[in-house]
Parts: sequence; C-alpha cells; structure tokens
Amino acid sequence: MGQDSPRQQSIATAGETVVDRGVLPFGQPMLSDRERAAVMQVLHGPILTHGPRVQAFESAFAAFTDAPHAIATSTCTASLHLAYMSLGLVAGDEVIVPAMSHVATAHAVELCSGRCVFVDAEPLTGNIDIDLIERSITPRTRAICVVHFLGMPVDMARVCRIAEKHDLFVIEDCALALGARYRGDHVGLSGDIGCFSFYPAKHITTGEGGMTITRRDDLAQMTAQQRAFGIDRNIISERTIPGEYDVESLGANYRMTEMAAAIGVEQMRRLGGFLQQRRENYEILSEGLREIQEIETLTTSHGPFDSAFYCHCIVLDDSQQWRRGDIIEYLKLRGIGTSIYYPKPIPMLSWYRQNYGHRDEDFPVASRISAASIALPVGPHLNGDDMRYIVAVVKEAIRSELI
Ligand SMILES: *Cc1c(COP(=O)(O)O)cnc(C)c1O
Repeated sequence: MGQDSPRQQSIATAGETVVDRGVLPFGQPMLSDRERAAVMQVLHGPILTHGPRVQAFESAFAAFTDAPHAIATSTCTASLHLAYMSLGLVAGDEVIVPAMSHVATAHAVELCSGRCVFVDAEPLTGNIDIDLIERSITPRTRAICVVHFLGMPVDMARVCRIAEKHDLFVIEDCALALGARYRGDHVGLSGDIGCFSFYPAKHITTGEGGMTITRRDDLAQMTAQQRAFGIDRNIISERTIPGEYDVESLGANYRMTEMAAAIGVEQMRRLGGFLQQRRENYEILSEGLREIQEIETLTTSHGPFDSAFYCHCIVLDDSQQWRRGDIIEYLKLRGIGTSIYYPKPIPMLSWYRQNYGHRDEDFPVASRISAASIALPVGPHLNGDDMRYIVAVVKEAIRSELI
C-alpha cells in the first residue's frame, strides 16, 4: 500500500495504534502451483470433459464425506435442479424452503415448476426454524429442503422425523457446509440428496462446480444420467461403440469439465488444512468479539454440531443496526472485506415478492438477520494475527465517534 492511500490516511487521522495488515478480502480462492499444473496436464491431453479426473474428484469427495455415491456437476444450482428432477417433482408440488438462503435454493424448485413454501429462520443460528415446518405442510408438499446456514449443521434428526411422518423427501443444500458434521456424520447424507458448491468463495473451488451426494442407488443413477442429457452411458470409457447410446429420461447438460475436476482433486488434498485454519480463525475471532456488548453472534458450532466455519456472522443490536453501512465502510477503509448473508430473505427478492406476495413481517427473524448482520471472514487465506486485527477494528468501529 502506498503512503498516500486513503486507508493509510484514515488510520493516521484516527490516531491508531492498530497495525495495518494490508487487504484482508472476505474470500479468496486458495490456488497453488499444484492446481495450475493439474490444469495444464489436462490441456496437454485429449479428454476435456467427463473423463478420469471427474471420476477421481468424485472418489475423493465420496471418501471425505463417506458418501456411497458422489456425482460431480457444473454448479450447486445444477445439483439442486437435478435433485428435484430425479425425485420427479412436477408442476404444483410444494417444497418447504428456508426463507434465509441463496436464491438458488428456491430457484431449483421453481425450475421444476414446483412451489416454494418459505419458512422463517431461528434466531440462534439462522438455520430453518424446525418448529415452523409442520404447520407449513399441505397435501401437496413433496419435500423439505434445508440449508446448513454458514456451515452450521441443521438438526437433521428432527427434520427427518418430520419428513418420515409425512412421507416427504429431504434435500440438503450444503453449499456453505463442506466439512460440517453431526456426531461425526458429514452433512448431506441424512436426507435423500446433498448438494455442494465449488464457487470461488466456498470452502474449496473449481471455478464453477457442484457435487451431489446420496446414499440411494436409484437417485445416484438418475442424477448421473440426467446431468448428461438422460443418456444411459455417461463416462467416455463406457461407450465401447462410439456414438451408440440411448436416452431414457429428460436431462440437461450439467457436467463438470476435466479442467475443473483437476483443480478439485488438488483442492481435496488441501481441504483438511483449510478447515483447520478456518476453525482456528473462528475461535480467535469469537473470543475477541465476546467482549463487545453491542453485538451478538450467530452460533456456528455447539455440542455435537460441528461447523464448517464458513464465516463469522455478527448481528448488531438495535442501538447499532442503523449504522451498519457505516461500520462496513469503516472496516473496508481498514482493509477488512465483509459480506452479508443474505441481503434479503428469498421471498423479499423482487421476483419472489411479485410471484408469492409475501411481506417482511412474514419472516421476522430472517429479515432481522438480513438487516442487522455483517459476515466477517475466517477463510484459510487469513491467520490468527489477522483475526486479532479484525477484532480491534470492529471494536473501534462500534465505539468510535468518528463515524
Ligand atoms: C453458493 C450457494 C448456492 C449456489 O451455488 P452455485 O455453485 O454458485 O450454483 C446455493 N445455495 C447456497 C446456500 C449457496 O451459498
């Protein structure tokens, strides 16, 4: 950073003792020479899609999660869409969907002409409020979808009991939860299908990418088929006679490329280290933020629920909420990248507002988290000193009269 950068100036005028730590982005893909070499190796060969690297990535992912089946896809959105396709969702079918999630969680239902029934969040974790699920079930309900919000596992035993009682499928959106476990069991396997994302901001990346895991042989086979036009053979080596195949179902082209999978294989080797660093960072940040009265933090791990520590989400109290924009700006001037999960509950986004007619009051908890929270980074691109710096600057931002 140059001497006359705005950030240096702002630190000088604030008369700070906090030592500048450069720019700390909210998220940063962790790519090394190993990923770059792996991609180059693909580019020197003839197979660019659905080949041996995709299979190797699927095997590594299955081994890490203990999943009987792992099917790589082009994005988590594709995996979610395939989930409803493989379950045979049809027009008018209803799916219970958390109001507090990425819009992809709801879009996947709409892409199959299904109807979302949105359920509010619980205040402690931001996860779906399980107490509200049963009253949202109607004769048209086919499935419950949950999101492990910010990496904190949902209590799947409770969700699955409700699903069993009403004969519903369960879909887990695990896009923020790679590495999250309940009593040692990886998320994504309690229900029928679990979906993961490898977008750059997530725990590992392949540029764009997704993964479906399931215990069910029938859904695994259907997902593999429907990710590739519904063709009955989808790995090149299975096509003994070139060009010969049949189509048994409707399908899309949601395959992963060999370049992406080659990156994924290398990322899986480093995932354990990434998760360890996230946990360490999260704990240091938690410890420091505990001293600040004006904020609460969403619980991201407790008891048998083992988080994947996607980020550290602080929720400002009523005395601070109106200053959120200023606090975010203050952190930014001191080099700290933040994010908001999510800026609006899904039903409050224009398209859903127009098509569903909900109001803010329908989802008080999700609306409050949207309006008052700031997500702080804990990714493996950062270390303990970065966390101590973030704590110092958050304190300063909350207490400063300068804003
Ligand atoms: C990122 C994300 C998605 C979408 O993942 P893509 O791989 O970008 O399609 C879906 N759900 C949640 C909860 C996410 O965070």
